[in-house]
Amino acid sequence: MKRIELAKHYRVAENKKFKLSDINPADTWKLKSKEHAREWLDEGVARMADLQAKLYAQNQWALLLIFQAMDAAGKDGTIKHVMSGVNPQGCEVFSFKAPSARELDHDFLWRTNRCLPERGRIGIFNRSYYEEVLVVRVHREFLQRQNLPPSLVTNNLWKERFEDINACERYLTRNGIVIRKFFLHLSKVEQKQRLLARLEEPDKNWKFSVPDIQERARWNDYQRVYQEVLRNTATDFAPWYVVPADHKWFARLVVAEVVLEALESLNLQYPAVGPAKRKELAQVRKSLEAENA
Ligand code: ATP
Ligand code: MG
Repeated sequence: MKRIELAKHYRVAENKKFKLSDINPADTWKLKSKEHAREWLDEGVARMADLQAKLYAQNQWALLLIFQAMDAAGKDGTIKHVMSGVNPQGCEVFSFKAPSARELDHDFLWRTNRCLPERGRIGIFNRSYYEEVLVVRVHREFLQRQNLPPSLVTNNLWKERFEDINACERYLTRNGIVIRKFFLHLSKVEQKQRLLARLEEPDKNWKFSVPDIQERARWNDYQRVYQEVLRNTATDFAPWYVVPADHKWFARLVVAEVVLEALESLNLQYPAVGPAKRKELAQVRKSLEAENA
């Protein structure tokens, strides 16, 4: 089993006919159990730390990881596990909730654009501008709050937003920001189990939120708009990965593999030291060694 195969298996790029129902949320590829994945994941996390150190030192590329999912799909846990080995200095996570009044007064890419990763860094979006073609599409009333000029709100609005997102992602890619997008694909049955656990286990009560139940009632609408998003915004330069998420260990493994593959594709190296710098280092070394102390 090649790891690169695993990352490729769930990749969606340029596919107008993509069907979400073709991917089973309980899939675990060729792996039978958590134990099979553990060693693989541990090794991956260690390799990621090494690649991130090079990414940071080289200071040329940046990596943007976007996470979208239904509630309780495990975005937080996946981010925590996959990034557990990386240096916090080179990595930043942003969570995007319902927009504030100030954010609503700007174009829809404004608030996320301010949080893009610098060169050498890994940026993680826990939800993102994709909410603008997901929750805002399911709850049309949210669009009202954006106060767009009425003449611009036409039947083409979602198509135009897809175009703008694709154009923005192409622009970022051309500026050295590598983008990987993850949809953690959970089944409705497994969401029910996880929401029940939040109600039953005292340590999980804090995670329970009533709006999650209201969103659950719109399950089919969300699946439909997610499929539309995947069909229209999966591109060669910024692919989506539909990650089966009913088994948390498996989702974590797939995400780790995709991140590794992305970093490995950049052929990262520590910056080479030129002759002048080497000479300087040799001189400093000599004077340090000559010290009495
Ligand atoms: P968790 O529940 O695991 O803590 P979460 O990402 O679900 O994490 P919440 O605070 O529960 O965080 O929910 C954030 C809510 O904000 C989601 O329902 C999401 O749809 C909503 N949201 C995010 N971006 C937008 C947006 N641009 N417009 C409207 N609603 C948005
Ligand atoms: Mg939530």
